[in-house]
Amino acid sequence: MPVYEYRCLKCHRRVAILLRGYSDAAAAKPVCTYCGHDKLKRLVSRVAAPKSEEARLDALADSAALGDIDENDPRSIARWMKKMSGEMGEDLGDEFGEVVDRLEAGDNPEDIEASMPELGSSDSADSFDDF
Ligand SMILES: [Zn+2]
Repeated sequence: MPVYEYRCLKCHRRVAILLRGYSDAAAAKPVCTYCGHDKLKRLVSRVAAPKSEEARLDALADSAALGDIDENDPRSIARWMKKMSGEMGEDLGDEFGEVVDRLEAGDNPEDIEASMPELGSSDSADSFDDF
């Protein structure tokens, strides 16, 4: 099922609209889900699937943001993780918050991983369903 992303021209929020099929896109009259305004600017189209989220993560990981990160500095990693979650506009859950907090406190990333066995054990997005 395709998802179309729009920018509301009134409240300037990003609105994701799910359509039944690609042919709906031309006929659809998207309405802002936040303020009900009907002047929306189309951003991008993509397929709604967990894979799109993965692709976004890959893109983020490849982005210049990675250039700021100092892997030997937990606080630098925490900053980057926060930035990453901010760009995704999503709450990544308690574990994520705890890791960021501990990194900011200067904890060794390897110690954090060792104390949280769920972390890093998943190689697909599906595993997140278990949380
Ligand atoms: Zn709006």
